[in-house]
Order: sequence, then structure tokens, then C-alpha cells
Amino acid sequence: MARGKTITHHCGHCNRESKMEVVGSVEENPERIWYRCTRCRHAILLDLVQWKKEQEDAKKKVERSQCMEYRPDITYSVGQAIFHSALDDMGRIVSKETTSDGAHAIVVSFEKLGERRLLESVADPEG
Ligand SMILES: [Zn+2]
Repeated sequence: MARGKTITHHCGHCNRESKMEVVGSVEENPERIWYRCTRCRHAILLDLVQWKKEQEDAKKKVERSQCMEYRPDITYSVGQAIFHSALDDMGRIVSKETTSDGAHAIVVSFEKLGERRLLESVADPEG
């Protein structure tokens, strides 16, 4: 089911992360696939080997500039990078959980501390 399949990739034309749809492959090299940005319709020839490597690197390394400051009252999404000032560490959100008492938590893979659970979507006590 290659048709209709989309991936998220950086579009050089939009200069931002965009949804890309498969438009075709290169016969002599099955690792190379044409993708088209669903935002600007710009087509890119993507090297899957290179792309997978970039995805792996992205998982491993978190840039401080990409991180959102962690605050318990914010709702996050999986894949977001956060910086926890009290722990002085940054990491990527690998999953989300709801605790037995109904509280929302994010599981963050921190660079130095490893996996930690942090609360999210905590109602503002003053609000
Ligand atoms: Zn684009």
C-alpha cells in the first residue's frame, strides 16, 4: 500500500516540516522515492537510506533550540523535545500515559537522566 502513504519530512521549499506523499519510485534504485509536499506540491527525491539515518539521528539527539520549556500545565505530544530547567536536562517525549487516578503524564527520554515520567495538563491551581 504505497499509494496514499505519507511521511513527515523537512520541505526545502516551505522550509518547514511538511507531510509528504509518495508519488513514485526510481526503477534502478528502489531506495530512492519521489515524494511530494502536500503543502506546496513541490516534489523531492528522497533517499530512504539517508532518510532512515536522519530519523535515527533525530531520535538520539535533541537540540536545545528545538526544546520547549517543560511546564506541568501544558499538554504535549509524542515526539516533542522539551527542556526541564529544574532537572537541567532535555529529552524527547516517547509516549503519553494516564495514571490510575486520572492524571496525565508524559514519558520523556532524557539525554542524561534516561526515562522519566512527568505530569502534563495539570489544571492551573490559581485558575
Ligand atoms: Zn513544501
